[in-house]
Amino acid sequence: MNPWIIEAPVAALAAAAGLTAYGAAHPRAQLFGRTICRTNSPRKLAITFDDGPNPAITPKLLDLLDRHAAQATFFLIGQFVRECPDLAKELVTRGHAVGNHTELHPNLFWLNPTKVRVELRLCHDAIKGAIAASPKWFRPPYGMRNPWIAPAASELGYRTVMWTLIPGDWQEKPAEWLISRMQPITENARRKLAGRPQSVVNGTGDILCLHDGSHRQLNADRTRTLAALEYWLPRWRDLGLEFVTIDDAVRTPES
Ligand SMILES: [Zn+2]
Repeated sequence: MNPWIIEAPVAALAAAAGLTAYGAAHPRAQLFGRTICRTNSPRKLAITFDDGPNPAITPKLLDLLDRHAAQATFFLIGQFVRECPDLAKELVTRGHAVGNHTELHPNLFWLNPTKVRVELRLCHDAIKGAIAASPKWFRPPYGMRNPWIAPAASELGYRTVMWTLIPGDWQEKPAEWLISRMQPITENARRKLAGRPQSVVNGTGDILCLHDGSHRQLNADRTRTLAALEYWLPRWRDLGLEFVTIDDAVRTPES
């Protein structure tokens, strides 16, 4: 028998499984619904923080961002918002955007449509209760998606936000390691802002994914994330980058 008769279906199955894995986990895959993966100008850097609010870190981070005139977007965990509603509100008061990062931070890939809806709805209600407005942005925990997350998110009026760079600031490594992992932002800015006008028109700036908390518990230590930002923010500013919320990142670019 021709081996292809046996192997072709296996190969097709493997390809389909690979495609599902790609669509579920690759930050710029559009298989399971359109997502925001870049800002609309190379000049705009959208810094995002997941897994807060975190009383041990977020207030220090807010001061750091203020010092560098930086705005950011925070993807909040519902149960932490319920514990620290004032901190969630302060994010908005100080000019930042907030988004939904589910109630308990499960891997949504494995949840059925009802459970996905409950995770999104509970976090939505927690944020709405704290800031007296509906958040517009959603980021799935671990970046994992499946076919019923996009409909559940759009039902609540969300657009899903992924990233171009996730340096891994949850890892137990020295700040110097994290600083070097954030170097691609600098390289992209240098390349794209080097005076090539068409790259400005086709602008696609970075979305950086960091963490001001941990989904495991409140008060997680993220001082290395603060140190890395303290290092990079003035340098990125000198390169011509602006630090914007996701709202500003997708707004019609100024020329
Ligand atoms: Zn997370």
